Amino acid sequence: MPLIRESFQRLFPNKEWNYQEDMEYNRRLSNFNANISLRRDKIKVNLNLEWKDIDDEIKIGLIQHLLLKIFKKKGNTQNIDLYNNFVKNIDILAVKDKFDPILEQSYNRLNSQFFDNTLEKPNLVWGRDSCRKLASYNFHNDTITMSTIFKGGKDDMLDQVMYHELLHKFFKFGHKNGRNSFHSPEFKRAERKFPRFHEIEREIGQLIRTKKRMKTIHGRKERKNGSLWSFMKKF
Ligand SMILES: [Zn+2]
Repeated sequence: MPLIRESFQRLFPNKEWNYQEDMEYNRRLSNFNANISLRRDKIKVNLNLEWKDIDDEIKIGLIQHLLLKIFKKKGNTQNIDLYNNFVKNIDILAVKDKFDPILEQSYNRLNSQFFDNTLEKPNLVWGRDSCRKLASYNFHNDTITMSTIFKGGKDDMLDQVMYHELLHKFFKFGHKNGRNSFHSPEFKRAERKFPRFHEIEREIGQLIRTKKRMKTIHGRKERKNGSLWSFMKKF
């Protein structure tokens, strides 16, 4: 049986299947991303190519997870459990081959100080010289991207932002649309274990203001944004 129909009928055994299905693997979506659409009677699922070799039972969980969204239903199945477990460990499958030496040193310091050297090393790369997006963690490709504004600066500023992103890797859950956006109370408690947390946060705010002034002078002012706090909250 085609996979979307199979997923649908296992999820909604009492519902009639009146749809056409279309499933497509592509490279446009980032690693292990997927989306779904329902137009008239056609259910279309797009999957990133990486899904192709994954076991059908896990794929069914993914499709059921997406079906619940478009039909605005709540529910759980064994397949959805399988899928959730798979997603939690997706970072293990990611290719790890990008380690910037400066960022790697930061990771090493934090891994020994806060994680008993047990947190596996993600990809560590520099991003743009952004004052809005200081850093991000993408669990699909297990990569931390750091704004270059921290290049050549004080270790503790870099480390504090790096620690925040490593906590996303550590806690894993709480992502929305592939982006970590959820900071649980547990997350926040862990984050504040960083020594001089508030002091360093202020220093980062100062750094951002300095960088922005420099950018304005160079005529490349970035979009207006909220305070550092709202920023840190967002990522
Ligand atoms: Zn965050």
